[in-house]
Amino acid sequence: MSDIVIYTKTFCGYCVWAKRLLQSKDADFVEINVSGDRELIQQMIERSGGRRTAPQIFIGDVHVGGYDQLSDLETRGELEPLLREAAPAAADPPADDNSTNFQPDQEDAVSDNHRPVIILGSGCAGLTAAIYTARANLKPLVISGREFGGQLYTTTEVENFPGFPEGVQGPDLIENMKAQAERFGAEIMIGHAETLEVAEQPFGVVLEGGARYTCDALIVATGASSKEIGVPGELDLRGYGVSTCATCDAAFFRDRPIAVVGGGDSALEEALFLTKFASKVTILHRRDEFRASPVMAERALANDRIEVVWNTRVKEFVGSSKTGLQAVRTVDVHSGEEQDLTVDGCFIAIGHDPNTAILRGLAIDLDDLGYVKEGDRPLPHTAIEGVFVAGDIHDHHYRQAITAAGYGCRAALDTERWLTNRLMGA
Ligand code: NAP
Repeated sequence: MSDIVIYTKTFCGYCVWAKRLLQSKDADFVEINVSGDRELIQQMIERSGGRRTAPQIFIGDVHVGGYDQLSDLETRGELEPLLREAAPAAADPPADDNSTNFQPDQEDAVSDNHRPVIILGSGCAGLTAAIYTARANLKPLVISGREFGGQLYTTTEVENFPGFPEGVQGPDLIENMKAQAERFGAEIMIGHAETLEVAEQPFGVVLEGGARYTCDALIVATGASSKEIGVPGELDLRGYGVSTCATCDAAFFRDRPIAVVGGGDSALEEALFLTKFASKVTILHRRDEFRASPVMAERALANDRIEVVWNTRVKEFVGSSKTGLQAVRTVDVHSGEEQDLTVDGCFIAIGHDPNTAILRGLAIDLDDLGYVKEGDRPLPHTAIEGVFVAGDIHDHHYRQAITAAGYGCRAALDTERWLTNRLMGA
């Protein structure tokens, strides 16, 4: 039996990302899915020193932690040595393999590192761009980013994506898009682009770990990541009661009181989902009305397991990695009165920041919040010819799965036209 163990949950994006990263290293691991099994949940919490989040990864005697810690090991070049120590045979790279980042199931992997199109990001926008460019025979290479599948991968039911009258689970929708892109020849690899070289053609994309790929056209669809509140205890207690993913962690708070911070659709969706597990859900919102759509607001207000505390900001998360989260210290925005809300878990759902750090320093304008701005040429074109953008990195208005898919389609079609014109010398 392998000495590499990963505790997972069903519908857990981080679990999938962790497994993919281990698979990309040819690591042979044992998966223990704790969904619906209280004993296994308890075993995982005890073995991981109180962490209430999946995945939890153990390599030999080392408790790695969750996906972020696994990914940090990879960034520091420490993952492969650790795997090799735990399972010497399994982690040895195949003798003739110099491109171990590729998924093992890639049949059509091109041996050199040049592609007509590289797409950064594997959310709705990136995968839709992959479907279109693959169908146009442009053999796109999709570089997943740290979080394969983007925001939809940590979502539960998507009720408003056309074509699914009964709704569809976010991870299922993403897996289907991936399969559809692969069917037409897209390559999807787990990796994180660190630097772009776009001063001249061909463009270069350098990944964490140093691998370098080149392309004629680049579609940047790196999406957005959860915002932090920025208060004491928030980061220290991540995984010890503070979470940004109800789908991943809700089951670890069965019959316990929890809080949700935020007043948008995401917060209310998380709160409603959490009522299936928690004894009580308290929504902490900084204003006196929700930003969420009326239908979500109505559902949340009608749910007798949900209480809303209006006009309240979070000041601090109280607790430690030993005790777990003990309370959320709040402050009333009008009176300034402080209170400790005793909860075992708190889910933060206050929106997202665009993942545009990789574009900083390039000739692509970003607005004050970091979104890509429209320049002289209309989006999806950017100021750099041959570099296109799609999805939440420029869209701070709609931010829906369907609009992200639409933006991915638009970027792919314009990329194809741009490449054709270039070939024709236009
Ligand atoms: P959002 O709409 O931007 O809402 C963010 C919420 O967090 C707001 O209520 C905001 O308060 C609050 N907030 C922001 N910063 C805060 C801070 N530092 N401390 C405390 N509270 C803070 O973000 P979202 O809910 O993630 O939704 C993003 C987009 O996705 C929206 O277009 C939404 O419609 C869409 N979405 C749709 C669905 C669905 O259709 N089922 C589900 C999820 C998301 P204020 O209200 O005071 O600004």
